[in-house]
Amino acid sequence: MKLLVVEDETRMVELLRKGLAEEGHTVVCARDGSEGLDLVRNYEFDVIILDVMLPKLNGYDVAHQIRKEKISTPVLMLTAKDAIPDLVYGLDSGADDYLTKPFAFEELLARLRAVKRRAPVPQPTKLQVGDLVLDPATREVSRGGADILLTRTEYNLLERLMYRPGKVVPRRSLIEAVWGFDREIEENTLDAFVRLLRTKIDTDHQPKLIHTVRGVGYMIRAEARS
Ligand code: CA
Repeated sequence: MKLLVVEDETRMVELLRKGLAEEGHTVVCARDGSEGLDLVRNYEFDVIILDVMLPKLNGYDVAHQIRKEKISTPVLMLTAKDAIPDLVYGLDSGADDYLTKPFAFEELLARLRAVKRRAPVPQPTKLQVGDLVLDPATREVSRGGADILLTRTEYNLLERLMYRPGKVVPRRSLIEAVWGFDREIEENTLDAFVRLLRTKIDTDHQPKLIHTVRGVGYMIRAEARS
């Protein structure tokens, strides 16, 4: 699984990072609530392990905010408090389950499997930007009604952009979404694939949909460049 750990205590972070990696999981760590929220907004995770007492934004607020933004990634909350009202508050704020510190690592693993299993399978709906349509269910893409044939990499890039129309998708986020966390991809490899994608999507059409945001990333949107 690809896991996000939002936790500020160094010992706990190292314990989780090491233990979960040994179990074969990919682990990304954030040290405060706002960094955690930022990662959740930009990357896909299978489960978020979220501490309650965090700098900047506490775990309840993070959980509340991601549900408000309709992000359905399961949340397993870590809490040092075992008073019932706090747990209820945690679950109400959008957590799927909680674990009280200190906990046995085996229990954490079991809870992770359980929240992942219970997570709703997202029902992909067609994504549309202008006359460009992408169907995640069939991986078919068309513009102005004409089918466009994309390679797997081109498709993955386009899908990533189309999930956030009108928003800049950072270069790092695109690279990780398409090639994964573990592979080091040269920056110009990304540019080369975007060039190929542009040829297929934009060359014979107006308006141009794929926009470069210099030094930051790429964005897809239908309005003309301002
Ligand atoms: Ca903490």
